[in-house]
Amino acid sequence: MIKPIDMPFDSEAVPPFPDDFSPTDPTEEDTDTDFDPSEFAGETVEAAAGSDIPAQALRPDCEAFFWPGGPLRQAASQGGRPYEFRPQQLEMAGAIADALNNGTNLCIEAPTGVGKSFAYLIPLIYRSLQCGRPALVTTETINLQEQLIEKDIPLLRKLTGIDFRAALAKGRHNYLCRRRFALLTGDRRDELLPAPALALDINRLGRWMERPVDGERDSIDFRMEPGTWNLVCSEGISCLGPKCEFFRNCFYYKARQAWETADIIVANHALFFTDLGMRAASGSAGALLPNYGAVLIDEAHTLEDNAAEHLGLHLSRLSILATLNRLYNHESARGLLMRGGAPPELRGLITETRDEAYGFFAPFENLLHERAESALMLSDPTRFPDRLSPKLEALYHKVAEFIEDEEDASFRAEVEAQLTRCREFVTGIDQFTRRTIPDAVYYIESDRSSVTLQAAPLNVAELLGELLFRQDFPVILCSATLTVRRNFDYFTSRTGFCNGTTLQLDSPFAPDQARIYIPRDMPDPKAEEYADALLREIPRFVEMTEGKAFVLFTSYATMRRTADALRNYFASKGWMLLVQGEEMTRSGLLREFKEDVHSVLFGTDSFWTGVDVPGEALSNVIITKLPFAVPSHPLIAARMAKIKAEGRSDFAEYSLPEAVLKFRQGTGRLIRSSDDRGIIVLLDRRVISKNYGRLFLDSLPYRFEIV
Ligand code: SF4
Repeated sequence: MIKPIDMPFDSEAVPPFPDDFSPTDPTEEDTDTDFDPSEFAGETVEAAAGSDIPAQALRPDCEAFFWPGGPLRQAASQGGRPYEFRPQQLEMAGAIADALNNGTNLCIEAPTGVGKSFAYLIPLIYRSLQCGRPALVTTETINLQEQLIEKDIPLLRKLTGIDFRAALAKGRHNYLCRRRFALLTGDRRDELLPAPALALDINRLGRWMERPVDGERDSIDFRMEPGTWNLVCSEGISCLGPKCEFFRNCFYYKARQAWETADIIVANHALFFTDLGMRAASGSAGALLPNYGAVLIDEAHTLEDNAAEHLGLHLSRLSILATLNRLYNHESARGLLMRGGAPPELRGLITETRDEAYGFFAPFENLLHERAESALMLSDPTRFPDRLSPKLEALYHKVAEFIEDEEDASFRAEVEAQLTRCREFVTGIDQFTRRTIPDAVYYIESDRSSVTLQAAPLNVAELLGELLFRQDFPVILCSATLTVRRNFDYFTSRTGFCNGTTLQLDSPFAPDQARIYIPRDMPDPKAEEYADALLREIPRFVEMTEGKAFVLFTSYATMRRTADALRNYFASKGWMLLVQGEEMTRSGLLREFKEDVHSVLFGTDSFWTGVDVPGEALSNVIITKLPFAVPSHPLIAARMAKIKAEGRSDFAEYSLPEAVLKFRQGTGRLIRSSDDRGIIVLLDRRVISKNYGRLFLDSLPYRFEIV
């Protein structure tokens, strides 16, 4: 059922696709955006085939693709899955086609098995060819990006017979910068490299570049020292753009050329939100991505957290020290200012600034230590003294003066990039210590190597409403879990979704593909006996499926304790026990789990979402505890406090719906195809003992049994 949200988009007031639209504006000064792909490659940018699809005919064309007589029927003969008519897929494609045609936004809950990627790609492809502006697809996980670029899009090219162009967009730090690399291979490399050990990596990178490579970090097939990549990656602040001697062979600009001429651009949420933030700060002149005509945000259940993370402030001690060390590191007597006869007092000033950086972060670090916390909200960040900014400012002016007459443009760009960073640090410190970001939560966080000052916007809804949902392009949101009790209100209120409609699709899977078990005598999770009960109940239910289980925890400590206590039990059964955080990486754990059919995997947070294990290997999902967010994290605590301060219930209006959505993600790991069968076990008795428990049970389409 399609449900309208807010007022309709005023497509008259803001023409969605101007006739004279040009993907690049040659008058823009920023080196990122004065990029003209045709100039760069010396080629004419041609329109892709198929651009004569008539306007306003999107829905019939899209639907025709999915109907039994349509092109999708040939999928198996072209290397795809056998054709299956899925009414939900047809409905989704039609609704997206209408939204694109009308210039309205759309929010879709598309359960697993609907065939969502084809359902959104087909209308986006047709629409981008129709209007001559690329469509952007953004996803949370690399897996989904790879699936789209490597499997779905090539197959759709064959099935539609349209030679549309698609490109995977990654942040520029993923590409090697030839200019920065050359600087580190020149005469003064020993002084410029912050540590001698990195020279080996630079030699290896040199040999790697002799091969035909795309310059992407992901294609490097050897391990590098931490820190090497940061010295050679492309970065906006030091890029010389068309003035660079390597411009025509630049890996990053070659990739940009592919984005600029693509009909479909696939990006990740991090790049998308960084781009959105830059557009907000400096308009399209600061944009990283081409001007798209429509955007589809897949895995949209992470929208609020992604926006809060990427539209906020992060300032770490590590990043300040790294910048200063890049200029001059007194311990190793290396750095950019070892070159060119920099006066000793300049190097002395850098050493003093470094000491000041330690001094500035010390009170924050001490506070975290005193409270034994890894993250802490600061109600008054203004009380922390700042003697670092004046030092950074002085450094900026002195080094800028010194570098003024430097003739080597590449060297100068490298030094100026560090100065730009110093200026950004001063701005960041000012924003943090004077609380200049409106309606934000200010907090500090530490890990083993650094302390970070953070400010995250609390009202993401307002920001996204302005930056995203009221723009001149349609925005389609899609995820398997956006509703609570078949209602989008919670999601739309948290994200500010407006100017469009919502659509909830039914699951294509049968309700009898899974059964829910709830043990009747499980103690409350707060009770002392709960830990022992886990040791009794997990084996009981794992035996029902002979292993083949995911056991999902909400705490590392409980997971580790339970794993240690059950290790011998699993060994005696001959079922491999895989535990998150032990020897293997997440992808290694998943690979083992899929290969060894009887294995059992214990996981926390990251295994609740984004994991796809179709088939027998995953026949049992055990939820040890309902996933209520821990309000000890400052951002969560601040969101809840804000709701409370408005006289509303933070439990009913935040904790509970968040937990239901995460619960749906976790249990959604089980049934991934129409052949899958299995059980879901709930080891948290609150689903039956508390009033709100029904909200969790009603969110699943399966029958439950108390055993
Ligand atoms: S244009 Fe030059 S400086 Fe800019 S990323 Fe490419 S190689 Fe590096």
